Amino acid sequence: MVGLFNETILQDHPLFHNHDSILVQEYASLGTPYLAEVPATPLRTQPCLVHLNTALANAVGLNAEQLASAQGVDVLSGNTQFPSYQSRASVYCGHQFGQFVPQLGDGRALLIAEVRKGKQYRQLQLKGAGPTPYSRHADGRAVLRSSIREYLASEAMHALGIATTRALSLTASADPVFRETTETAAVVCRVSESFMRFGHVEFFCYTNQLEALRNLLTWHIEQHHPEIDLGETETSFHAGLLQWLGAVIERTARMVAQWQAVGFCHGVMNTDNMSLLGLTIDYGPYGFVDGFDIDHICNHSDHQGRYSYRNQPRIAHWNLYALAQALSPFIPDSKETLQNLLDGFADVFHAEHSAQFASKLGLSQLQGDAVDTLIENTLKFMHQHTLDFTRFFRSISALNPKATVEENFAQWQHSPFFPLALGDEEQVTNARTWLSQWLALAQTTPLALEQWRSKLEKTNPAFVLRNHLLQNAIEQAQKGEFTEVNRLFIALSDPYNAEQMPGDYIAKPPEWAKSLVLSCSS
Ligand code: AMP
Ligand code: MG
Repeated sequence: MVGLFNETILQDHPLFHNHDSILVQEYASLGTPYLAEVPATPLRTQPCLVHLNTALANAVGLNAEQLASAQGVDVLSGNTQFPSYQSRASVYCGHQFGQFVPQLGDGRALLIAEVRKGKQYRQLQLKGAGPTPYSRHADGRAVLRSSIREYLASEAMHALGIATTRALSLTASADPVFRETTETAAVVCRVSESFMRFGHVEFFCYTNQLEALRNLLTWHIEQHHPEIDLGETETSFHAGLLQWLGAVIERTARMVAQWQAVGFCHGVMNTDNMSLLGLTIDYGPYGFVDGFDIDHICNHSDHQGRYSYRNQPRIAHWNLYALAQALSPFIPDSKETLQNLLDGFADVFHAEHSAQFASKLGLSQLQGDAVDTLIENTLKFMHQHTLDFTRFFRSISALNPKATVEENFAQWQHSPFFPLALGDEEQVTNARTWLSQWLALAQTTPLALEQWRSKLEKTNPAFVLRNHLLQNAIEQAQKGEFTEVNRLFIALSDPYNAEQMPGDYIAKPPEWAKSLVLSCSS
């Protein structure tokens, strides 16, 4: 076993916890042509630790106290190598905004460790630790602004129960990084079972390295899908591959439905940003929608709205087509077989979307088509009046499924999340219509009011990581003050808890939030 040598040394390394975690080299041992060994480039000015995700450090099996030490910060910022592990970058390609780009890769992400703790396997990756062979003349760095955004969003999504890569640490230095203006460098250490993307499969298909692709797929499936048996024959390999693609389709469909249910737009759903494990990955110009607009575009560089809120499911499906296409050399009668599998996307997406929104509305999904109609009408009503997505759903727990429309309307106004503008007559009329439609279904709930409310409050977050809150934290951080990053981290870690939530985090966003512009620059 490749990992044995390291295991014996590193069990005693201070970065590891009490011998229950070990450093391994499983993915790393794949080597060429998948990975290029490349050291991180040290920052010139001493990096500081902006935030350490202590809970995640413990969960991975790392020693949080040691990670926060000067020696740990050096490892987390790429200034020194993780003990006995040569860092690596992987090659992939992808469809960016629908166009095929033949070579991408981790241009600024370096795998720095693989850690096993019992059955749990995690990879650690530094983002922004210098150029790699796949940097394409770019600097391999990430600015503080985008690093704060990735760090906080990963953990916000995790706390909302949505599959995502995670973030262990955020380190920053005064080294200049040149974008539209001069900014400063930061490094996020991210954690995931795998950082493999659809683009990894596309790369080895379109460079015609089919044997390499087959080996990579075999490794990935054996590592991450123990339920799939690829067997020893061609026939069993095809069957296993199809089963695996089915799993990727299912996970991706669920993930995007869950994004929709918290009003999340990814912003850059290129195939190189789509995880093979159905994890949310590569947080750039993402956004949680404030006032709901079904055509909301969060990325200013997305002129056509390809990745708008409405289009996200369709694009996820399109990306899965691109993945399936890259697998077709291995699949007999590929066109028909793959088409059948891909057709399954809509069913999984629809089922998850209905389940998510039914529970957000405090309804039982058993009510079938009627629930779907209500979900559609709810989103139309919210869109028509640009109602705040998070506040609207959270305010539903102030209602009472057994009371009348008028009683409910009065009750609703006492909620700190009340989403309506009472001066707008049309809105108020439509709200009463919506309430009566909602009551027709909600009143059949078998739950007692308190039970119903408490369930709903665990379903609709009081807090999401809105862009204007991030913007405040970023502006402070750029002046060397990280209080707001810390404050946001605490709030996003417990997003359903309205009682503990600062008032400015649950309030209606200020007017200036509407004029915030985010681009791919990072
Ligand atoms: P993204 O749009 O951020 O997902 O990046 C697309 C590709 O460009 C990925 O392969 C990144 O690793 C790479 N990339 C983005 N920014 C940089 C940078 N500053 N230096 C090197 N590579 C980069
Ligand atoms: Mg990317």
